[in-house]
Parts: sequence; C-alpha cells; structure tokens
Amino acid sequence: MSPLQRKQCLMNTVIRPELVFVRGQGAWLYDQAGLAYLDWVQGWAVNALGHSPEVVTAALARQSSTLLNASPGFYHPPLLALAEKLVAASVFDQVFFINSGAEANEGAIKLARKWGRLHKDGAYEIITFANGYHGRTLATMSATGKPGWDTYYPPQVPGFPKAGFNDLESVAALIGPSTVAIMLEPVQGEGGVIPASEAFIHGLRALCDRHGLILIFDEVQTGCGRTGELFAYQHYSVMPDIMTLGKGLGGGVPLSALLARQQYCCFEPGDQGGTFSGAPLACAVGAAVLDVIAQPAFLDNVRERGRQLHAGLERLSARHGLGEVRGQGLLLALVLPDGDAPVLVEQARAQGLLLNAPRANCLRMMPALNSTAAEIEEGLVLLDRTLAAWHLLR
Ligand code: PLP
Repeated sequence: MSPLQRKQCLMNTVIRPELVFVRGQGAWLYDQAGLAYLDWVQGWAVNALGHSPEVVTAALARQSSTLLNASPGFYHPPLLALAEKLVAASVFDQVFFINSGAEANEGAIKLARKWGRLHKDGAYEIITFANGYHGRTLATMSATGKPGWDTYYPPQVPGFPKAGFNDLESVAALIGPSTVAIMLEPVQGEGGVIPASEAFIHGLRALCDRHGLILIFDEVQTGCGRTGELFAYQHYSVMPDIMTLGKGLGGGVPLSALLARQQYCCFEPGDQGGTFSGAPLACAVGAAVLDVIAQPAFLDNVRERGRQLHAGLERLSARHGLGEVRGQGLLLALVLPDGDAPVLVEQARAQGLLLNAPRANCLRMMPALNSTAAEIEEGLVLLDRTLAAWHLLR
C-alpha cells in the first residue's frame, strides 16, 4: 500500500504535492522514489542549517540522553544558556520560550496589552499592517487581517487597526488614546517578500517615541540570520522594544521566543506559559544553532550567497521578461504575472527544485543559510530550465 493512500486521514489544511519525502540532507530532500530535490523552501525557512545538520542531530542526541524534558517550572542548563545567548546577542533584556511563531506573537500581544493596562490608561490597540502575517491563532489571525478570515471565524479579536505598509501617514492617522503598540515584520514574508523601507522603520520608531508606544518586530521569518544580519532590525540601526523569533531558531525543532526590553517585561507567574515552554531538547538545539549562525563569517556567507542569488535572479528576470527581484539576504522573491507562481512551483519541482509561492505573483526562495556558491548556482540553472520550458508551453 502506498503511504499516499492514507492521506484522507489528514485534515485539509494545506495543499501538498503527490510526493512522500523520506530523507533530507543539507540542501537536498529525497522522495520515496529516490529522486533528489534542491530545497529552497527548507521547512518554510525553518531549517536554517539545512536538513539534518550534524550540529542539530548531535545536540538532540546529547540532550535527549541527558535530560529529555523537565517541567517549565524548573531551571535547566539549556534554558539558561539559550536565554543568556539571545540576550547577549540582542538589545533585549529578557526572553520567554515557546513552540511556534504564532504563540510567540500571542505573547507579544499580551505583553503589550498588559503594559498598556498598567502604564498607559488601559490602551490596548496594536496597529498592524495590510498584507502582514503573524500566525493562525485567533489573536494572530486578527493581527494579520487576511481578507476572508473574518468570514468563518468571527468575531475577530478586536484591537488591531490596519495601516498601509511603508505608508507612515496611514500609521500616524490611526494613533489615538487606545493605541499601545505598532507591530510589523521588517520584511513582509507571506505577503510576498516586501522589505520595509529604511525611512519607514525610522519613522515608526519616531512615532513610537513621540506617542509612548511599543515597537514590536515580528522576526519569526526574518530573524536568526535569514536576512544577512542575526536580526533584521540590525540593518536599520533602530531598536525595537519587543521582538519575536521562531522558524530558524530551532533549526528544525519547534522553538520560538519572545524578547523584550526591561521596561516592558511585566509578566508575572501564571500570565504566560505552556507545557512545552523552554523545554530542554528544543533549547539545547536552539543554543547549538545560535552558536553557528551568530558567527560573523557565517553571516558573511548569508550576505554573499544572498547577493549571488539576487544577481542570478535579476539575470533570469531579464532573460525571461519577468518582474522585480526583492527581499534581503536569503529571503528573496521573483515577481511574475499574477497567477503564474503556483504553476511555476509545480514545474520547478518537476525539474528538481523546491520553491514556494506566498502570493500568486511571487516565487519565494529561502535556501539553507549555509548554502554553498555551487548550490545557489545549481538552483539558478534549474530555475532557468524551468522558466525556459514554461515559455515553450505558453
Ligand atoms: N510571523 C511571521 C512573520 C511568519 O512568517 C510566520 C509563519 O510563517 C508566523 C509568524 C507564524 O509562525 P508559526 O507558523 O510558527 O506559528
């Protein structure tokens, strides 16, 4: 019996190709038939160091035979080590660990609301952005505000007015006595890989300072080296007050983090948590991954490979008459005519290259951060071949 015959047991929450992947190594995924695919999806940017990197498998083996799990109510070395490393590497003073990006963002929303209750006359509104993405729990869906989401899951969690991304005036127009924070992705990932402009980020910081608001960066997708700095805020020389991380932090293991500057750390015992919060296995892996990605030479490689991929995509765009190439570091997208991206995802897969399409006009590439120049070149060759075949078919 083919494993795919069991697929009807799964809820219909995501569109999957008719393939079963059985093994991953570095930049490559292998299907049941033994075919190799160059993976530029990498677990939706989760596998920062590629598939099954030794750093991760060794940390898992070491930690699982030492202390597999402890109560979130106990200290243990991986928890303390990862917290210390993240605080030392950033502008934040304290951290809370949980499992997914959405849960970290829930924590950020709650922290801002509690701070508003304590210090800003009960202000609770958090300005978020059209085209943004913060997760699929009810509050993070409401913060996301994707058109259509309010149809099936009403009522939305109130308090998330939407401004236009890169449009400072629309943000200023929404600020009122109920506003406590502004929350954004430095690069809108699911929205189609759209970077915030430098002027926009600086303008948001100035608005927050003027009105006493909290600036929250959702770095679930942009953090942990993805954009070529350890955290994307470092590109702008602007300090957010709260930041969330996820995806690459665990290098393939569920782990996310909420970080805040001291003055906003107003949780008390019982306010926030979860059975798996700060579990030894995830924290041990997180610490091992962070040790690798925080090295300057590692981040140099992300920037260098990012420039290589960006330049290669520009060449392909010119050759095949396509649109803009945008993004930062190894979070890049090629803009296509609307509707073409999902088709090209399938055709690239047939050539042995895995990509995804956050929007119907946008092909996204998120290779492993330790990709080699040869692997990037190989992906560009596969994409060129895909685009050439696609032109012939049209
Ligand atoms: N925030 C951003 C910016 C994301 O890109 C994502 C996931 O794509 C999330 C939050 C949600 O993370 P998770 O899927 O781990 O809940």
